[in-house]
Amino acid sequence: MAKKIVVIGAGIIGASIAYHLSANGADVTVIEKSAPASGATAKSFAWINAHFAETDEFFALRMASIAAWHTLEKEIDHADFKVRWGGSLGWGDNTEDQTEQIQVLGNLGYRVEMINPAEFSTLEPALRPPDGTCLHALDEGAIDPVRATRALLQAAAGLGARIVYGCSIKHLLMQNNRITGVATPFGEIAADEVVVAAGVWSQGLVADAGVGLPMDNSYSIIVRTTPAEPLISRVILSPDVHFRQDLDGAVIFAESFSGGEIGDDPSKTATRILKLLQHRVPGLRRTGIENIFVGNRPIPADGFPVIGRASGTQGLYLASMHSGITLAPIVGKLASQEIMSDRQSDLLAPYRLSRFQ
Ligand SMILES: Cc1cc2nc3c(=O)[nH]c(=O)nc-3n(C[C@H](O)[C@H](O)[C@H](O)COP(=O)(O)OP(=O)(O)OC[C@H]3O[C@@H](n4cnc5c(N)ncnc54)[C@H](O)[C@@H]3O)c2cc1C
Repeated sequence: MAKKIVVIGAGIIGASIAYHLSANGADVTVIEKSAPASGATAKSFAWINAHFAETDEFFALRMASIAAWHTLEKEIDHADFKVRWGGSLGWGDNTEDQTEQIQVLGNLGYRVEMINPAEFSTLEPALRPPDGTCLHALDEGAIDPVRATRALLQAAAGLGARIVYGCSIKHLLMQNNRITGVATPFGEIAADEVVVAAGVWSQGLVADAGVGLPMDNSYSIIVRTTPAEPLISRVILSPDVHFRQDLDGAVIFAESFSGGEIGDDPSKTATRILKLLQHRVPGLRRTGIENIFVGNRPIPADGFPVIGRASGTQGLYLASMHSGITLAPIVGKLASQEIMSDRQSDLLAPYRLSRFQ
C-alpha cells in the first residue's frame, strides 16, 4: 500500500515536497490554512542563486538546486514554471569587496566575471550604468514564486495528490513518540508521516509535539510595480535598491533582495524606494506601485535550513528555511527520497535539527 503522507503548508517548499513525493508513488494530502503560496513565498524576491553561501556545503546544496531547477522546469513543462535565467549584475561602493567576491566565487567554480560600465550598458541598455565595475554572475535566475508554486501543486495533483485549502491544522496527533496524523477543525487525518513545511508557523506546530525548532524569523518589505514594458533582463543588485522584472512586466524591488526595513509606514517606505528604482531605470518614471508586501522570513536560528526527521519523534519530517525559492527543487527531491526510502542524503546531512540539541 502507498505510504500515506500529510504535508502541512502549500508554500513553495510544501509544494515541491508534495510533487516529488507524488512522483515517487506516495499517497499525498497537502493541507493549507489559506491559499497556495500565501506565506513567505508570495512575498519573496525569488532570486535563484548560490551567491552568498556561508559554507562550502551550503554552496554545494544551492548549486545542486540550481541544476535541479533546470531539470524540474523541463519536467513540469508549464508556462508559469519558467525561470528567467540571465544572471545578476551587482555592485557596491567598494571595488576591493568585488574583487574578493569574484575570487571566492570563482575558486568555487561559480561563473562570475567583472564587467565595465560599457559592457553593463550592452547587457542592460535601459539602466543607468554604475560608475565603476560590476560583478556579473552568469548562471542565476528568478521566477514568479506564486505562479511557480501553483504550477507545482497542479503537477502534484496531476499525480494524484489531494490539496486542501482553507483548512488550518490545529495540532499533530501523537502516540508513543510517533506522529500518527493531524487534527483539523473538522476531524482527524491519519498519516504514516507528516511533513511540516509551514514556514514561520512550523515552530508552533512542532512545539506542541515537544519538538524544539529554534527560529530567528524576520520581517521585511518587498514591493511590486504595475506591469511595465520589458526593460530589465537580469537580477540587479545596486547599492541602494535591488530589483528584477517578472515576465508579466511587474518590477519587484526592495532595498535588499532579502527585503528591507519596513519603517513606520510601509507605503511611505515603498514610495521612497520606488524613487531609487526610477533613478536607476529612467523608463520606469511613470510606473506606479501595485502591491506592497510585508513578509516574515522563516529563518532557523543559525541561518541554515532545517530539513529531515526530528530525532526522538517518529513520523515527523521538518522542512524550514530561508532561501526556499532557490532550494525548493533540491529539497523536494531529496526530502521525498528520504521519506520514501529511509536512505539519508549526504547533501542534507548538515541541516538536521539535531545540530541544535
Ligand atoms: C522579503 C523576502 C525576500 C526573499 N528573497 C528570497 C530570494 O531572493 N531567494 C530565495 O531563495 N528565497 C528568498 N526568500 C525566502 C523564501 O521566500 C522562503 O524561504 C520560502 O518562500 C519559504 O517557503 P515555505 O514553503 O517554507 O514557507 P511559506 O511560503 O511561508 O509557506 C508556508 C505555508 O504553510 C501554511 N500554514 C502555516 N500554518 C499552517 C497550519 N497550521 N495549517 C495549514 N497550513 C499552514 C501557510 O499558510 C503557508 O502558505 C525571501 C523571503 C522574503 C520574505
